[in-house]
Amino acid sequence: MQHNNPGLEELTRQLLEFRDARDWRQFHSLKDLILSLNLEAGELLELSQWKPEQRFEEEATADPMHQRLQEECADVLLYLLLIAERTGIDLQSAAANKIAANHLKYPVEKSRGTSTKYTEL
Ligand SMILES: [Mg+2]
Repeated sequence: MQHNNPGLEELTRQLLEFRDARDWRQFHSLKDLILSLNLEAGELLELSQWKPEQRFEEEATADPMHQRLQEECADVLLYLLLIAERTGIDLQSAAANKIAANHLKYPVEKSRGTSTKYTEL
């Protein structure tokens, strides 16, 4: 197993190679990729179930919880990469565009220190 630090393009390449070696493309409909992303996000959520907020924050930085969080975050990212590849989305520019849009929605002078939604600012 490789323990390098690849970028999103290289991760996508590795993921497609993994998928295609197993002939799993046939199972990866866009709908099921989105469904799977949400199931993995649910696994991430499950790690915090029934835990007081402060205790969970403390556990999250040390093993074994840190390892479990790492694995579920990776699962979410990998499905996101498959969705982006299928639909031709450049995740890095989409994310950068979203941050720029959020700057406009939430100007610092109106939003600093408040959790109010932009429609109410
Ligand atoms: Mg998982």
